[in-house]
Amino acid sequence: MSRVFNFSAGPAALPEAVLERAQSEWMDFRGTGMSVMEMSHRGKTFMQVAEKAEQDLRGLLGVSDDYAVLFLQGGATGQFAAVPLNLQSGGQAMDYIDTGAWSGKAIKEAGKYGPVNIVASSQAQGYASIPDPATWKLDPAAAYVHYTPNETIGGVEFHFVPETGSVPLVADMSSTILSRPLEIERFGVIYAGAQKNIGPAGLTLVIVRKDLMERKSAQVPAVLDYALQARNDSMYNTPPTLAWYLSGLVFEWLLEQGGLPAMAEVNQRKARTLYHFVDNSEFYRNPVEPSARSWMNVPFILADESLDGSFLKQAEAAGLSGLKGHRSVGGMRASLYNAVPEAAVEVLVEFMADFEQRHA
Ligand SMILES: *Cc1c(COP(=O)(O)O)cnc(C)c1O
Repeated sequence: MSRVFNFSAGPAALPEAVLERAQSEWMDFRGTGMSVMEMSHRGKTFMQVAEKAEQDLRGLLGVSDDYAVLFLQGGATGQFAAVPLNLQSGGQAMDYIDTGAWSGKAIKEAGKYGPVNIVASSQAQGYASIPDPATWKLDPAAAYVHYTPNETIGGVEFHFVPETGSVPLVADMSSTILSRPLEIERFGVIYAGAQKNIGPAGLTLVIVRKDLMERKSAQVPAVLDYALQARNDSMYNTPPTLAWYLSGLVFEWLLEQGGLPAMAEVNQRKARTLYHFVDNSEFYRNPVEPSARSWMNVPFILADESLDGSFLKQAEAAGLSGLKGHRSVGGMRASLYNAVPEAAVEVLVEFMADFEQRHA
């Protein structure tokens, strides 16, 4: 068996230790004579899995009892609708910060439910920076302020938490959650599709301040209804049991690594290594303003784009997978989520240096 270094943006790499543990429990889950995905979500065995995952996640992020933690489905895209449906009603305005492809999709979806203010945008800068907070036109009467802390496609990341006063802050953390410690109390709602930095696709994590849960519009679908799902421990309908279990194994693995402070150190080192190499090369380039560069998704462009195909082919042959940039922007992108080891970045940089030498 040989596993590659996987730089996919999502679904993305999972820790090998987690995959091995899941394999060892696959046929006979903890003495039940069946796999974890064949049993009732309401039985004692699965309830223990579910509760442990929630407790471990709360421990990792420091989530207090003021917040509900929901294990839902529908992806971050489902939350693009769930957020306005749960937090806004009666024609109240919703503030959005536009920093790229994913915030754009969130804005488009929210627009179906009420008036959206784009309070800041980096579109004119090619989405290569974060708009200066001093220029944001926040509405103190808005239902919430929504932003995308890490733009997975553009490789642009906020390295600060926006200040929104008493207006609840909502964050799409799909590609950055669990990469470093977080001040949870600064947020009203945090949501994330699992398939980047949590676990497999199929699970959507939502962390919501309890006092915000009863604002919803009458039309919110039951599966997206925060208050209803919270009252039912995310089991108003059948939850994604396999993804919930696997994510729980990832939480245990993160705790074993030393939790989020330890992950932050490793993640920052990985990103630094790659940016440092790219910045010192005449052959590769990263288009993002240095203060807004993502730790998680590092796009880079070759000086001669006619070499893109051979770069990818040779990378694949060297055991480096998933480096093709998003179809909307082209070029390359290395995603450096928690499960991507430092060794992967070292091998990538060696490969890039070698490729440059042979083609520059
Ligand atoms: C991947 C991604 C999404 C879309 O997630 P789905 O689970 O496919 O709906 C939304 N926002 C961000 C920041 C992402 O990285």
